[in-house]
Amino acid sequence: MSTLITNIGELVTNDPQADDLLGIVTDAAVVLEGDRVAWTGAAADAPAADVHVDAGGRAVIPGFVDSHSHLVFAGDRAPEFAARMAGTPYAAGGIRTTVAATRAATDEQLTGRVAHLVAEMRRQGTTTVEIKSGYGLTVRDEARSLAIARLFTNETTFLGAHVVPEGSDPGEYVALVTGPMLEACAPYARWVDVFCERGAFDEDQAREIFRAGEAQGLRGRLHANQLGHGPGVRLAAELGLVAVDHCTYLDDADVAALADSGTVATLLPGVEFSTRQPYPDARRLLDAGVSVAIASDCNPGSSYTSSMPLCVALAVREMGMTPAEATYAATAGGAAALDRTDVGRLVPGSRADLVLLDAPSHVHLAYRPGVPLVAGTWVAGRPLDP
Ligand SMILES: [Zn+2]
Repeated sequence: MSTLITNIGELVTNDPQADDLLGIVTDAAVVLEGDRVAWTGAAADAPAADVHVDAGGRAVIPGFVDSHSHLVFAGDRAPEFAARMAGTPYAAGGIRTTVAATRAATDEQLTGRVAHLVAEMRRQGTTTVEIKSGYGLTVRDEARSLAIARLFTNETTFLGAHVVPEGSDPGEYVALVTGPMLEACAPYARWVDVFCERGAFDEDQAREIFRAGEAQGLRGRLHANQLGHGPGVRLAAELGLVAVDHCTYLDDADVAALADSGTVATLLPGVEFSTRQPYPDARRLLDAGVSVAIASDCNPGSSYTSSMPLCVALAVREMGMTPAEATYAATAGGAAALDRTDVGRLVPGSRADLVLLDAPSHVHLAYRPGVPLVAGTWVAGRPLDP
């Protein structure tokens, strides 16, 4: 079955062949065939299709690609958030609260929570999501977290190295992560991730975990330079990882390493919003030629938002990005951070993941912060139920 969406005031294609960043086509139309985009161009030239949708002059953009989330968890940390807003600083150890709740939850409870959050994301225009483990920290709980994440996405990430669990010896825990835990988790994971930060895992431990993950067929990505300067960003560049996430505290050598390596810097402005920390400097990265993605980091501790439109607005207001750069980073940028070219763009052959905005242009994502602008979403060619 084919669908023609026409009378699109502004179509954002992210076509890499276009002269402008977003590959904008005005007075446009798109034809979807099965789960793929079959045609894009001027509405006047559009071919016929089985189903006809009138966009009413509004904008259509590629679905958001949220390349960083932690959706498999139980419990609630609203009191911790309130305390932080009253002056208590954020520390990585808060993760342990969620670990205890997650271990105590049933599979059904965890699955239900992920389903709820994924539905919430889709209503806000996210059509591809990466989901990490990292709140189980035992062989059983990490493996079941990933098995549950796999029910919702193929972009699953083993993050046994989130924090050393309470009462564990760090050396013994790394041996567990690189041994039995990795073996149990690898069948459900595409990626392996490490929280490389003071209070979590150091550079040598991260190297060891990536080496072990690679031997099991997993590709690396990294949490780094969130809470302070450190070796993580340079390590990611050195190892040629696809993405390194947070990148809040960078020195000039870090920025140069990212520009040279092509590693995508994934910025997570929901974290700085929710922890009242300084935002990363996206302008500096873009001006240095670094590829930038924006993601939600949806998690119960440091960023409990599932909203990519909010992250786009924050990136524009707080991180020096233009609305076009932020829109690109939240779509094509996220795709690059997952090493995907089939999503994050609307060109013939790409997956038919589209968002109809209740607005005349992508600029409104930042211009109208907090307003629910997603009027319709198609995932793999199928419209979501409103
Ligand atoms: Zn994270």
